[in-house]
Amino acid sequence: MSADTHASILIVEDEESIATVVAHRLSRSGYRSDWAPTGELGLQKARATPFDLILLDIHLPGISGFDVLETLRKEGLRTPVFIVSADRFVDDRVKGLRLGADDYLVKPFDFDELMARIEAILRRSAAPRPPQVKVGDVSINVEEQKATRAGRSLEMSNIEFRLLEFLARNKNQAVSRAEIAKEIWGHENYKETNVIDVYMGYLRSALDGGQKQKMIFDTFDGGFVLKG
Ligand code: CA
Repeated sequence: MSADTHASILIVEDEESIATVVAHRLSRSGYRSDWAPTGELGLQKARATPFDLILLDIHLPGISGFDVLETLRKEGLRTPVFIVSADRFVDDRVKGLRLGADDYLVKPFDFDELMARIEAILRRSAAPRPPQVKVGDVSINVEEQKATRAGRSLEMSNIEFRLLEFLARNKNQAVSRAEIAKEIWGHENYKETNVIDVYMGYLRSALDGGQKQKMIFDTFDGGFVLKG
């Protein structure tokens, strides 16, 4: 998806000056946007309107951005969520991504980078993907975002699911950290951080936990391979 398709973006941000600048910049790039100054309003608007993307601040009066994200995902809303927060700690970034955010940017951010990442998320969510992938006893239903191993359903977040899907499409081939970062987030910013390791850890416990036959293996150069 490109900007000229007029994607609509919900900005959940309590600082009006930031929201105004972001809205202006989005509009210049051809996006429509709406603004919610609190988490409660963000939830209401996200439920009422099918936005293409939600830009979400973490520190909000009342319920936090984390709460907003967790609630929306529990309710089954799969709209891409991009966290823009003052938090500098990787733990917060991991927490946000773990709760089902699609990307995370720390304030103060560069507008060009923000726009590039928004475009990457929208492109990715609009790209057609084959509906089913099978590797060994693992079955992946892309449309319903559900995966099973030997008929047992696997519990995982958005990002872990995409990671599994990517590894499965490249089964028995090594994938590098840069390829993973590019596929999952549309940029390579996370390839040298522990974010990929954290996700791979979650995915491993969901997929291989308690199983005799492991499926995910490390490669010599720090990449991964799904065997099956
Ligand atoms: Ca704030």
